[in-house]
Amino acid sequence: MTSPQRAPGGFPVVGVIGGGQLARMCAGPAAELAVSLSVLAEAPDAAAAQVIPSAPVGSHTDVDAVLAFAAECDVVTFDHEHVPPEVLAALEERGVPLHPSPAALVFAQDKLAMRHRLTEIDVACPAWAQARTAADVETFAEQVGWPIVAKTPRGGYDGKGVRVVGSVEELADWLERADSDAAQGSGPLRDGLLLEEKVDFVRELAVLVARSPSDQAAAWPVVETVQTDGICTEVLAPAPDLDPHLAAVATEAALRIAEDLGVTGVFAVEMFEVRDPETGAPEYVVNELAMRPHNSGHWSMDGAVTGQFEQHLRAVLDLPLGSPAPRAPWTVMANVLGGDYPELYPAYRHVMARDPGLKVHLYGKSVRPGRKIGHVNVSGTDLADLRERAQHAADYLTGVVTE
Ligand code: ADP
Repeated sequence: MTSPQRAPGGFPVVGVIGGGQLARMCAGPAAELAVSLSVLAEAPDAAAAQVIPSAPVGSHTDVDAVLAFAAECDVVTFDHEHVPPEVLAALEERGVPLHPSPAALVFAQDKLAMRHRLTEIDVACPAWAQARTAADVETFAEQVGWPIVAKTPRGGYDGKGVRVVGSVEELADWLERADSDAAQGSGPLRDGLLLEEKVDFVRELAVLVARSPSDQAAAWPVVETVQTDGICTEVLAPAPDLDPHLAAVATEAALRIAEDLGVTGVFAVEMFEVRDPETGAPEYVVNELAMRPHNSGHWSMDGAVTGQFEQHLRAVLDLPLGSPAPRAPWTVMANVLGGDYPELYPAYRHVMARDPGLKVHLYGKSVRPGRKIGHVNVSGTDLADLRERAQHAADYLTGVVTE
């Protein structure tokens, strides 16, 4: 294992648990800040391990590996939300500074805990219920009407733990699993399922903020996220034609949630834009929370004075935060999903040559259909043109278009 090398002059080491693309994208800003990074990587060739010299291999579920890793770091943060509570507790017991703290992180790890807490602090959410039995499901569906949305409280991502169902039979397997998880006192369904009304939303929005331990906070402009088959494919920054009052109250809500929950670091609040059924006024309801740099913030790497990865490092180190102001009227981000290319490099050259205004970010991941392997950003003044250019580049890299 290569120990992290500290820059002379008292500069710190930030440890990241998990060696995925988020940890990888911290590498550039860390180098510029003279902050050293160390990542606990899943494998020697993990996305972050390719570019960060200190990348011991170990599992985020292995207490001993995580403690040995953390002993060499000044603060520890996360590439994902899957570090189990017992591992977080062991880190806390040793006095390792963790950002976000386990007390906050639970609301990003567990959607039922999140719904309970947001309801307590009066944040607008879809109608929801906790369900352990078929009767619980029927009761909720009678209140809100079929179809409903069912979610596994833990472990879902990219829509994988989400089902839109029109009858209780479609949840038979999850209810059975909930019974066995409850009997064992462990597993993603041990507290049952999260049920939600199917929100008739106008579009999906995300509010990205950063908060430091000394309570400084900064908010980027509210963005629109476009999903295809449950996966975010495009982000428009700022959200076009967003009602200014909605932008203000949505941002205020994200900042208030960050403070109430004690979140530190970058924090994303995914929201649905809805219309008040009586007045037609634009409103939001909160879908979910992420306590780390987030896909909805990738645009900021090129489109804002301070990108989310730099800001996350500044926040977890309690450094003064940078300006989140946009650098251009519009920035469009398009995710690159894995396609048919065994060799991506020729496609990557083509995209760069075709449009020198694009910023291409690839994560060093092997190409698998549907997997997020990178993204492109493009900023400017003509939104329709930017969308077309970003989408073309992403499609070319996926292999959906060849010219
Ligand atoms: P994940 O944790 O997998 O990202 P989400 O809870 O964000 O799951 O849900 C994934 C997608 O499913 C959302 O982006 C949205 O398009 C849709 N969705 C989730 N909850 C609801 C809901 N209550 N009503 C309507 N659509 C929903």
